[in-house]
Parts: sequence; structure tokens; C-alpha cells
Amino acid sequence: MKFPQCAVDTRCIIEPIREYCRRSNAKHAIFYEAECLHIDEKNNKIKCKRTPQGVYSEKGPWNEFELDYDYLVVATGTQSATFGIPGVKENALFMKVATDGRKLRGRIIDSLESANIPGATDLQSLLHFVVVGGGPTGVECAAELHDFVANEVKEFFPDLADKVSITLIEALPHVLSMFSKSLVEYAEQKFHRDSIDVLTRTLVTKVDETHVYVKNLESGETSKMPYGTLLWASGIATRPVIAELIKNLGEEAGQKSPRALSVDGHMKVLGTRNIFALGDCAFMNLPPTAQVAAQQVACCGFTGKYLGRLIRKGRNAMIGDTKNGTHEFDSYVENAEEFNYNHMGAFAYLGDNAAIADFSTKADAAGGILGTSAGTTTYFLWRSVYFSKLLSFRNRVLLGVNWVFTEIFGRDTSRR
Ligand code: NAD
Repeated sequence: MKFPQCAVDTRCIIEPIREYCRRSNAKHAIFYEAECLHIDEKNNKIKCKRTPQGVYSEKGPWNEFELDYDYLVVATGTQSATFGIPGVKENALFMKVATDGRKLRGRIIDSLESANIPGATDLQSLLHFVVVGGGPTGVECAAELHDFVANEVKEFFPDLADKVSITLIEALPHVLSMFSKSLVEYAEQKFHRDSIDVLTRTLVTKVDETHVYVKNLESGETSKMPYGTLLWASGIATRPVIAELIKNLGEEAGQKSPRALSVDGHMKVLGTRNIFALGDCAFMNLPPTAQVAAQQVACCGFTGKYLGRLIRKGRNAMIGDTKNGTHEFDSYVENAEEFNYNHMGAFAYLGDNAAIADFSTKADAAGGILGTSAGTTTYFLWRSVYFSKLLSFRNRVLLGVNWVFTEIFGRDTSRR
């Protein structure tokens, strides 16, 4: 879920694809709710399986199906990385998709209600929230947890608030390593003031049901800490369907990165004629962020977006039947202008209505001639940027109402 504010109601930020197709100029699009398991790039086919959501997706011969394609756009994103660390998959919660947010919410409420039962013991462990990974995901989650404790827990569980603790663990010397130095210092100092325990140069090596095992990378010392809720935000990993495609396509597709499909300036996967890739599953020497994906994206309704426009213009260039038309499409793509990324800056929320923004590009990252900003004004800027990125008017209204509602009544503490 690449939306900041894990506390927000997911209905405000989720856009039903079917609804979106109906409203935009992608009216002829056909949508199947299914997972692509295999891409047969030699025969131009994909194999899919109905995404298990309910009883009907568990049975029926229609559960698995194949589709032919002339051109394929791959935008599968990535999955949460666990680096094969024992116990992580079984015991940690993740923050990648909307359902992860709901699970975390349920777990937080569960730990508070359990700690509130008369005679409950070991409250310090039960109410210890450990976040692994000091990238933007981990930092924003720790900040949101802090806000929740400072507001709702203090109000609804006043006897428990001072027993809650938050620890953020990061293997590198600092959190938010992609931000300018001054902002990293600002973030670390703010977390220190907010009593979020930041353990840097600390690697998580193992997890079990009750403890996180860590190694201090400076001293080599190992230790373990009890936890009640473990949130894993250690980065992203390749989805199996993409890893298999890279392997099948051979060296060219994986030449720039073994973890994503290497694409050329037209978003075409290297070594292929008719496969395009974008977002986190494509490698273009750009960070795997929502901002990059949004500029590359294939949403036909948005004219400034690269691949959508390329495909639409390529299709307009096609004359005659589809078979001959593909040559015209290919030559249009070959001669088209290449994708040009326009970096608009990076934001991260730090809690208490404060955010940081880094508008420096890679070249000037040390100090940032384009500048940095931090504090409450940046927080409102951060909010308005994300607000403007929502795809529909409906969602903007829902989110606006949700924010006002939360300001007045506080966060919803029901499980849902
Ligand atoms: P990340 O890769 O940016 O950060 C993960 C961190 O986890 C790294 O700093 C790594 O050193 C640490 N780590 C990995 N394994 C560890 C271990 N075993 N023990 C301790 N630390 C460990 O991942 P992310 O934060 O999920 O972000 C993924 C991408 O999404 C990034 O490109 C990021 O910029 C983007 N993103 C941006 C925003 C934003 O702009 N506000 C928010 C969320 C994500």
C-alpha cells in the first residue's frame, strides 16, 4: 500500500478497477480478477489462476485459464522481501497491500485488548511494537504507531499508554538513507524525542513467535528482544512470475539487474519485441517508487503518462489488419520519444503532523541545491501531493471526509 498514513480507511484510497475502466476512456478493457502465474513469451500466452477470495474461486474448472496476447504490459510490482530470514514469513506482519494494513490494525487492537484483561502479564512484551527496516515504509509506520499511542491509546487505554514501546531496527548506519543528511538527522532526532528506540547498524537474523534475534554489526554482539507485534519493512523482492520470465528470456532481460526486467527507453523489455514492463518490476536505473511508476504507467485516461500515451499513439498509427498493424506499431514505438523521468522530490511522514521533503536530485543529493524542507508545512504539502494523486473525485471526497472525521473524533479503534 504505497499510500502514507496506514491509519486511513482503505476504502478511501482503493479504486475498483472495474469502475475505473467504466469511467475512463478504457471502456473496451476487459478485467479478470486473477493472478498471472506464467508468461510464455515464446508462444505469446499467459497462464492465470483465479485469485483465491472466496468459495467460488476454490472450485470449478474455470479456475485456471490461458490468454493470448499480441503485446503484453507487465506491471506486477514486487513483494515484501524477507531475505530468507527464519521465522519472518510465519510471525511478521507486512505493509505492502491494503489487506496488510487491516491485519496490522487488527493486531494492534488485539494486543491492547489482551493487555487490558485483568491479570494479564508481561505487558511490556505484549505492547512492544518492533518495526524492521528504516526505509520510508518502516519510518512512516513507526511514526503512525507513535501517533496512535500518543492519541488514541492515551485516551482509550490510559493505563496502558506508558507501557507501550516502539523500536525501529535498521541494518545501515542511518534510517532513510536515500534522504539528504540534514533530513536524516532531523528524523533521527525527532524519533529520539518521541521515545521511538532507533537501533541502527543492527541486523535482524532470526524471528520466532515471541522474540526478534539481532546482531550489532559494529560490535558483532548478538541478543534477542521480546515483541508483541512485529512489522517487517525490509524492502522489496522479485515476484516468482517475474523471476521466471527473466530466467527464460536470458541474459539481456536481466542484464541491468537480476531482480527486475531490464527495459529500454520505451519501456520495452530488452531482448523482446512485444513485452513492456513498468513500475517496480521494471529496471531503468530509477528508484522503485510510486512516483516513477505513476509517470511510466499505462493508464489510458491520463495523457502525460508515458506508456499509456505511447500505446494509444502507436495504435492510432496502425492501419490494416492486426497482423500487418503490429509492424506499424513496432516502428512507431521504435521512433517514439524515450521516457524521461521528472523527479518531483521525496516525502516521508515522521509523526505529530511533521514530514520531511527532499527535492534534491541524485546529482545534488549531498546538500540539495533544490532544497529540503521539514515540519508541519511540509506535512500539509505531503498530504496535498498524495491527495492530488488519487485517481477519482469519489476517493478525494471520501479521503477528505475521513481526514476531517479523524481530526474531530480520532482514529477508529474498532477492528473492522
Ligand atoms: P527500503 O529498501 O527503502 O528500506 C528497507 C530497509 O530495511 C533498508 O534500509 C535495509 O537496510 C533494512 N533492512 C533490510 N533487511 C534488514 C534486516 N534483516 N535487519 C535490519 N534492517 C534490514 O524499503 P521500503 O522502505 O519498503 O521502500 C521500498 C521502496 O518504496 C523504496 O524505493 C522507497 O523509496 C519507496 N517508498 C517511498 C515512500 C515515500 O516516499 N514516502 C514510502 C514507502 C516506500
